[in-house]
Parts: sequence; structure tokens; C-alpha cells
Amino acid sequence: MTGIYIHIPFCKQACSYCDFYFSTRKQLIAPFVKALIIEIESYRDTPFTKNPVKTIYLGGGTPSLLNEQHLASIFEALHSVFDTDPEEVTIEVNPDDVSDEYLKMLIRLDVDRLSMGIQSFQQELLTFMHRAHSREEALKALESIQKTGFPAFTADLIYGNPGQSVQMLEKDIQQLLLFDPPHVSAYSLTVEPKTRLGKQVELGRIRPPDDEVVAEHFDCVESNLRDGGLQRYEVSNFAKSGREAHHNSNYWNHRNYIGFGPSAHSFWWDNTAARRWNNRADLKKYLASPAADVVEESEIIPLHSLAEERLFLGLRTIWGVSETELKDRYQYELSDLQLEWIHQQTGRGVVTFDDKILKMTGTGLKISDLLVVDLLSKK
Ligand code: SF4
Repeated sequence: MTGIYIHIPFCKQACSYCDFYFSTRKQLIAPFVKALIIEIESYRDTPFTKNPVKTIYLGGGTPSLLNEQHLASIFEALHSVFDTDPEEVTIEVNPDDVSDEYLKMLIRLDVDRLSMGIQSFQQELLTFMHRAHSREEALKALESIQKTGFPAFTADLIYGNPGQSVQMLEKDIQQLLLFDPPHVSAYSLTVEPKTRLGKQVELGRIRPPDDEVVAEHFDCVESNLRDGGLQRYEVSNFAKSGREAHHNSNYWNHRNYIGFGPSAHSFWWDNTAARRWNNRADLKKYLASPAADVVEESEIIPLHSLAEERLFLGLRTIWGVSETELKDRYQYELSDLQLEWIHQQTGRGVVTFDDKILKMTGTGLKISDLLVVDLLSKK
């Protein structure tokens, strides 16, 4: 099975923390959609189209800047080139683009899941993050989702903002829970060097919160969402039972996916290794030749590296990684030193190894990346 990711590289304005690839030149949306369709068409009758497509994800950027005609033509191209039988079609939306009419249009196009970047309901934090939407627009968008009975949605929240108290975060989560979300993604604010936030931190104008404060936020998110019926199933993702995101789970499970659009990544198994490639993050070049010279980097990833990556990704989830999977899929044997490490960490209460499935405990999840680095160093 395959997942398809489409990168829509347009935003109204740059959020202060964001280092994704996008342009604010909305006049280029129509030419971009044409180019995107040419790129999709370039896959016709290739081996990539033989597997059924189970998930489609429109991300960005801000895909909700596209109108019905744009979206319909993209889906038409996908359905005509690929063997599509999707169990999940997601579109990222910004609250200020959401209206009853927009949602009804998405339902007509068989989009069944929204991923909405709310980030916070506190106007001062939205302003600090330089978000394009206001608190009122976020509330209105959530009301529209309820009113139209949209099949599924997830809302993004950001914690660990400078000046954000635990009480403010708790208020945000309680506000969101009033709309009964089936899924929530909560991310700790990361300071990327090339962003406006990164520059302000570098100049000493802003000081990110201490690790202890961020850890408190992490716990606050978990306990409030759990009380609201959403369980953490990955470090940053929470869902009601059975409402976990399929598309993202495919990334963590190393399933095949194809990415379209500037800066999109793809991953494809080829017997005993996998290939990963990414499209050039260059809209101008993409518009000039969308079907040729799109790929910037391509690498064959050997099984050993894939196993290590699988441990990184899988141990961020509550499902963990089994020893059998490591052996059968990646020919990766846990060494004696690693087994000894697992035994020690089980004693510390940060991992479990029941039925030979390695998992992080709640405490371990907070530092899962550090623990995996330690585990891999024992090979
Ligand atoms: S809307 Fe999303 S992609 Fe666009 S600048 Fe903000 S965070 Fe980045």
C-alpha cells in the first residue's frame, strides 16, 4: 500500500517559528496546480502506481488557500494515475479559511479529515507566533466543523512558548476539549535557526523556556487530554481509541509513500533496501519543469540504517518495536550489550520488553530520542 503526500507551498504570512518551504505569492497558486498535475501525470504507468493508495495527505504550507476547482483537478489527476482506494484523505487547514461552505465543498470532494493549526486560543500567543488567524476565527472554525458534522479532524497545539504558563496551556486544552476533538497533535515549540524566532533568540531578545517548564507542559498536555478521553499514542499525538492518524502512522512504520510538490519527500522499498528522495524546494524551477529535474537528492538506505530509524520512530509510539520485526524485516539482531541495556532500563522504569516488544514507558517517552541514541551505541 502507498501513501501520497502533496506539498502546497503557499501561506498568507510566515509564522515566526516555521521553517517549512512556502511562498506568499498567491498569484502563483493556479500555475502551481497545473505544474503539480504534470508531476502527478509523470508517474503514469510506472511501478509506483501498482500498489493501492490508502492515504492521501495535502500539507504545506496552507492547502486551504486552494479553491474547489484546484482541489478537484488535483484529486482527478491522482485518481486517474494511481490505484486509489483511500481510507483517509486529510487536508491541512488554517482556521481563517474555514467556513461552513468550505467544509461542505471538502466533503463533496471526499476529503474526510481536517488537520487544523490552532496552536493556541490566547490572542497574545497567536500574535507572538505571527499566526494569520485570531482566537475568534479558531472558535468559529471549530463551530463550523461541529455544525457540518465533518467526519474527522485533528487540531494542532503548541506548548513551550516563551511566556506561556501551564495555566494558559491548560485553558487552551480545556477550550479545545469543548469541541470533542477525536485527535490532537501537541508540539513543543522548536527554535529553528533560519526563522524570525530563531533570530530573536540568537540576538537574546527572547529566551526559550527552561527544560523543566517544557517538561511540565508535556505532562499538562497528557493529563488534560487523557481526562478528555484522548490517549497519547506517539510523543506528539493523542487520539480517542481507533481515531489514530493512518497517514502519519505509515511514516513511522516505513510504508511506501510518494511526495509531490516542491520540497516533498518520498520513500519506497526496493527488496532489501529503500530509496528516499526529495523534491527541490524551489517553486520557480518547479513551475518551469515539474516533471523533470524535480528531485534534488536521492539515497539508497541500507537495512541497518532503516532498522535504526525504525527504532527511533517506533519507540516514539506506544506500540514500540518487536524483536521479531527487527529480525525479519531488517535482519537486525539485538546485541548482548543492547539486551543488557534493555534489562537495566526496564529496572529504571523507562522501557518495557514484554513478549519481546520494546516500548517506552510514559517516563521514557519524554526522553525517547536520547534513550534510542544510547541503545544504538551498544550495538
Ligand atoms: S501556516 Fe503553517 S506552513 Fe505556513 S508559515 Fe505558518 S506554520 Fe508555516
